[in-house]
Formats: sequence, C-alpha cells, structure tokens
Amino acid sequence: MKVAFLGLGAIGAPMASHLTTDPFTLTVWNRTREKAVAFAGEHKVVAAESAPEAVTDADFVITCLPSSREVSQLLSEIEESIPSGAMLIDCTSGDPATSRDIAARLEKRDVAFIDAPVSGGVKGAVAGTLTVMCGGKKQNVQRAIPVLQTFGKKIVRCGDVGAGDAVKAMNQALLAIHIWSAGEALAALAKLGVESSVALDVINGSSGRSNSSENLFPERVLGRKYPRTFKLALLDKDVGIAKQIVDGENLESPFIELASRLFSEAHGELGDEADHVEAVRVIEKRAEVRIS
Ligand code: NDP
Repeated sequence: MKVAFLGLGAIGAPMASHLTTDPFTLTVWNRTREKAVAFAGEHKVVAAESAPEAVTDADFVITCLPSSREVSQLLSEIEESIPSGAMLIDCTSGDPATSRDIAARLEKRDVAFIDAPVSGGVKGAVAGTLTVMCGGKKQNVQRAIPVLQTFGKKIVRCGDVGAGDAVKAMNQALLAIHIWSAGEALAALAKLGVESSVALDVINGSSGRSNSSENLFPERVLGRKYPRTFKLALLDKDVGIAKQIVDGENLESPFIELASRLFSEAHGELGDEADHVEAVRVIEKRAEVRIS
C-alpha cells in the first residue's frame, strides 16, 4: 500500500512514523524540506522533492496541516497528480464546509475523501493510541481503517464528510472551556491563599475534575513547563471553527462564543508559538496572581 504523508509537524511526524514498515511504502513531503529529509533518513523512507511528486502513485494521501485553508491550497498543487481511484485522508483539524468542498472537488477526479482529525496529543501519536474521528461515506471510512489503525486506537465514523471536523471542533471548544474555567477557579483560590497544588488535589478527587485539571495543569501550569506540543494558535483556530458552526446554525451558545473570544485574545497576547495551556498566563496576569 503506497502512502504519501504531507505535513510532518508536531503531530504529523509521529503519526507518519507508524507507516514506515510493511505493508506500507511511505513517501513524505513537508513544506520545510529539511524536516522531510531528516524524517526520511531516520525511518529509511523517501522524501519527495515536491508535493505533486509525493502523491503521484499513492493509494492513500494523508494531509496533516494547520487548517483546511492550507489543505485546500495544497490541493490546488497536487490535485492533478493524485491517481484516480486513490483516497485523500485529511487528518488536519479542519472545518466542515471546506472539507465538503474538497470532497466535491476530488469526487470529479474519482478520488475518495474522508476528514479524519485526531485527538490524544503528541504522546498519543507516538504511542499509536490516537482517537480518530471520521467523516465520509461508510465504504471510504472502512477502506481507510488499515491506515488509521497504525496511529489510532479508537476510530469512529461520526457521519458524512465534515462530521469528523465538527466533532473535533466541539471537543476543542470543551478543552478550551475546561482550561479557562480551571484557570479562573485556581486564580480565585490563590487570591484566597489556597495553594494551587492543594486545590488541584481536592478538585481531582471531586466532581469538578477534567483532563485539563488532572493532566495539563499539574504538568504545565504548576510545573511552569509549557512544552509547546500543541500551539495556542491551533486551539484558537479550533474554537473559531466551533463558533462558526454554532453561528451557522443560529444557536445561542454563550460558552463557545466566550471561549472563542478569550482564546483569540490570549493568542493575540502570547503569540503564535505559545502552548495552548499558556492561556492560563493571561488569566494570571489579569487576576494579578500566580497559580503555582
Ligand atoms: P505544526 O504547526 O507543528 O505543523 C504544521 C505542519 O503544517 C508543518 O508540517 C508545516 O510545515 C505545515 N504547513 C504549515 N503551513 C503550510 C502551508 N501553507 N503549506 C504546506 N504545509 C504547511 O502543527 P501540528 O502538527 O501540531 O498540527 C497539525 C494539525 O493537527 C492541526 O490541524 C492541529 O490542530 C491538529 N492537531 C494537533 C495536535 C497536537 O497535539 N499537536 C493534536 C490534535 C490535532 P513546516 O514544517 O514547513 O512549517
């Protein structure tokens, strides 16, 4: 099975590393070519000179780029080179409307498409235990399973094209809300003189706990270590997609709207390279208190 993997970023590279052995023949491409060459050297696979060259004889093309905009742009370069009968699996956390456009574009050339964003972070990608949320025709999702199983543990078809992106966006909105609300709660408790480690210990044994309070806060906020495995800029983008979805449906969704505004402000304040959990630094600054 010939696979072309386009986009060896923080999560793309460890995902691609599971496709380097039989029955897969992997070709990689990355915008910054040095990363593709280093990956190819480490895993003994081919780094294509160009994106069209990478996809030219692929059975499966996988994209893992920042957003659907970059996928759509790249598609303009590679569309003619993807063999008819092949499939594009887009693991980008994308937006449903653009994914539907992409699927329609590709269908004209007899190329199948599924959106297949992932969750589980870089650790999950390295371990091959990601959750993969798929949108597409049943037979297309089924066909992609052998590829998705290399890096995914829980693989779910959420509905037609765009449904995977939609579920991912809502998951990210919940993540953003959990991070910000836990940050506010700990800032308020710090103001009252309660140590954050004590507060977190109690909350993590109580009903207010979340993945953010159990894992992200102890490691990143209390540890003052922000490893930048998942950029705040990407979470801002994701919550923006969730907001687009609720706006498109004319739904009153104050939490999602507020999360979108707050994460956009935090992104503006902390810049493109900040880690997603660093948003808590903005809460600390506004509250004039340190969570530690
Ligand atoms: P990174 O920023 O680490 O990597 C982005 C990748 O996209 C790089 O390979 C980059 O190339 C490439 N790229 C950026 N712009 C363009 C462009 N215009 N044309 C072609 N290639 C481009 O992002 P991640 O790997 O963290 O994220 C990728 C996707 O996965 C995003 O949609 C993100 O939301 C999602 N995701 C990420 C998770 C994580 O923990 N990191 C978890 C779950 C989902 P270059 O090397 O040249 O910059």
